[in-house]
Amino acid sequence: MSVALFTLGGTIAMVGDGRLTGAELTAAVPGLAELGHAVEIQDVEKVSSANLTMAKMLEVVDAASKAVAAGATGVVVTQGTDSLEETAFLVDQVWPHPQPFVLTGAMRNPTLAGPDGPANIVAACRVACSPAARDLGALVVFKEEIHAARWVRKTHSTSTATFVSPNVGPIGHVVEDQVRILARPVRLDGVQGSAEPADLDANQVALYSMTMDDDGLLLKNLAETHRGLVVAGFGVGHVPEKLAPVLGELAAAMPVVLTSRTGAGSIVRNTYTSAGSEIDLLQRGLIDGGFLDPYKARVLLRLLLATDDDITAAFAQYQ
Ligand code: ASP
Repeated sequence: MSVALFTLGGTIAMVGDGRLTGAELTAAVPGLAELGHAVEIQDVEKVSSANLTMAKMLEVVDAASKAVAAGATGVVVTQGTDSLEETAFLVDQVWPHPQPFVLTGAMRNPTLAGPDGPANIVAACRVACSPAARDLGALVVFKEEIHAARWVRKTHSTSTATFVSPNVGPIGHVVEDQVRILARPVRLDGVQGSAEPADLDANQVALYSMTMDDDGLLLKNLAETHRGLVVAGFGVGHVPEKLAPVLGELAAAMPVVLTSRTGAGSIVRNTYTSAGSEIDLLQRGLIDGGFLDPYKARVLLRLLLATDDDITAAFAQYQ
């Protein structure tokens, strides 16, 4: 039995201008040799995670599927932390196997005092080969905490405690060498069908965050360049009154998902009646994004468009 480890760059591998290979990254990690499982490494990319793409992550998922078909007990991906909440959620949508798919990274690079990469790698590998972590889809392991991909957020630009799941907390912990799962979220349906790169290219989804005294200019002609839109609304899902008809017109042309820009909680459905509030926007055809944050909602909508899957049913699972 082995753990399949895929490296994609990020701070965890960053030394000066260069980036460590997976072999270099794992060479001196305390505890890894005692894992009881070999770590099979595939170096995929050496990039900052701002450069990762959905197509690239789907390639990694394909390679990971091959690895578990060949007997790997679980998968670990090391990458930059910046887009990790999105890549983890993307993987969660398309990972069909019971084997854990664990993503991790680091906030302090290997040249700094107290780098967090080695501890995160060994904890991620422990989770990847734990029977307790099977059937949980994609997980983010950081600072010995285990987070479900559907809830985890990067919430701090520099702190090693950056990953939290604001609505629920971590679903488990790595304690000593044990993986202890405290809550097992029910697995939701992922997207059906496979998204080819050309389908992703043809289905661009915009993300628009509402701001005070918003001019809305960027929303004009959006239907000419994009196939879908995620709105990060104020609070429980509100926008300035004057932008409500603009969003209604867009919703007649393409799916428009309403989320909250606050970082936690869901939008509401039945509380506020004024123009630009949630009742008005949902009546104009916007889709309720529920508890999904704007970034995850964007990943989901693009995948659904690319696979021609049922958009209403998929978002209903998060409400
Ligand atoms: N900018 C880096 C990246 O996302 C940050 C990190 O790795 O934590 O690649």
